[in-house]
Amino acid sequence: MPAESNWGGNVAFTARRLHHPESVAELQEIVARAPRVRALGTRHSFSTVADTDGEHVSTSRLPAVIDVDRTERTATVGSGLRFGEIVRAIDEAGLALHNLGSLPHISVAGACATGTHGSGTGRRSLAGAVRGMTMVTADGELAEIRRGEADFDGSVVALGALGVVTRLTLDLVPAFAVRQTVYEDMPREEFRENFDAVMSAGYSVSGFTRWRERAVDQVWLKERVEADGAEPAPRTWFGATAADGPRHPIPGMPGTHCTPQQGLVGPWYARLPHFRLEFTPSSGEEIQSEFFVDRRDAVAAFDALWQVRERFSSEVLIGEIRTVAADSLWLSPAYGRDSVAFHFTWAPDAEAVARAVRVVEEALRPFSARPHWGKLFTAPSPDALRELYPRYDDFRALAARFDPSGVFRNAFMREHFPD
Ligand SMILES: Cc1cc2nc3c(=O)[nH]c(=O)nc-3n(C[C@H](O)[C@H](O)[C@H](O)COP(=O)(O)OP(=O)(O)OC[C@H]3O[C@@H](n4cnc5c(N)ncnc54)[C@H](O)[C@@H]3O)c2cc1C
Repeated sequence: MPAESNWGGNVAFTARRLHHPESVAELQEIVARAPRVRALGTRHSFSTVADTDGEHVSTSRLPAVIDVDRTERTATVGSGLRFGEIVRAIDEAGLALHNLGSLPHISVAGACATGTHGSGTGRRSLAGAVRGMTMVTADGELAEIRRGEADFDGSVVALGALGVVTRLTLDLVPAFAVRQTVYEDMPREEFRENFDAVMSAGYSVSGFTRWRERAVDQVWLKERVEADGAEPAPRTWFGATAADGPRHPIPGMPGTHCTPQQGLVGPWYARLPHFRLEFTPSSGEEIQSEFFVDRRDAVAAFDALWQVRERFSSEVLIGEIRTVAADSLWLSPAYGRDSVAFHFTWAPDAEAVARAVRVVEEALRPFSARPHWGKLFTAPSPDALRELYPRYDDFRALAARFDPSGVFRNAFMREHFPD
């Protein structure tokens, strides 16, 4: 049986089959004999990045390895596991991942392959924690790659183009507690004039706006605190007021689907994501886009979007503004620059969304915006991508070397990384 579509339902997969190998040897056989194959994670991407006209292979039924090394401060984990399935074992060892995305439902390999990120000044994307990977390459052989090796920086955010990752070794930090407070209605002027102060006020901070109201609807402040004895969070902050009950970023959706707020202190893994594993994250009926600009352009880019908001805001269920630290991974949207990411959760009307996305892309073009590989975008052309990603041609050469006969190539790669 093939997987019919992505989680969002906006991409109908063309793959003929979905394999669920239960051993690495079985996975190697599948890859070695398939003319065209591609790894599929938890299907949470909104672009066609995960599709193939060949066969899909999932690593979710490979042995569920979670090997925490306290001395090295690493976790080696099965690639198909979801973040929500690895965090407790890491926490029980007194350790933590440096950050998490908004949802714990995504696979570790699928998230790292697209440069998935959370928020926070100085916090790199989730791929920034990868110290090493094991993958099945196009010929069915196993390859190991470690940080420091020549190909490493091109191999982590690799869009599934180099091989099927079976395990990843992730850097860990000492476990920590987080207090999460949701503030409502931060006046827009307060937000933009104090952008750096607001976004750096906690370990991870997200601003939510529908681009309609004069105020930023919600600011989620995730502060690193002592597990016991944290002071209560202040009631007002930059003109915003602490919410009096649990909130969901999307108006009208239940706050109980989200991680605990109202200043309740809890472990890192139960506060850094916005959404709880046991519920559908976000709205469930949506399309998403996201664009990264240089953090120094954050306010100018915010203003540029604000100026054209009437041409896209009617499609917005919610927008989110986050910060991501620079890294050295060639295809990471935060490559070489501390970034601010403008995210859009759109109502699921494909044509209207395409129009709205073009408005956003046009407004952000002067800021050399890089799109999230796993979300919907309509620009840039390959030549523009080459300008945006200084190591673009190095990545193409790396992919051609790893996969000379194009076993992992799909329409997405052909469109954005043509021969
Ligand atoms: C509700 C929702 C919230 C989201 N929140 C965030 C967020 O907070 N931050 C953010 O940055 N993004 C976010 N995203 C986007 C999401 O994190 C990315 O699209 C991510 O890539 C999805 O991971 P996945 O496991 O579903 O991968 P898939 O979508 O299945 O695949 C993505 C890519 O990974 C590759 N891949 C998957 N498994 C492997 C493997 N074993 N080996 C090699 N390549 C592999 C695929 O081939 C494909 O190219 C969100 C998406 C949704 C639906």
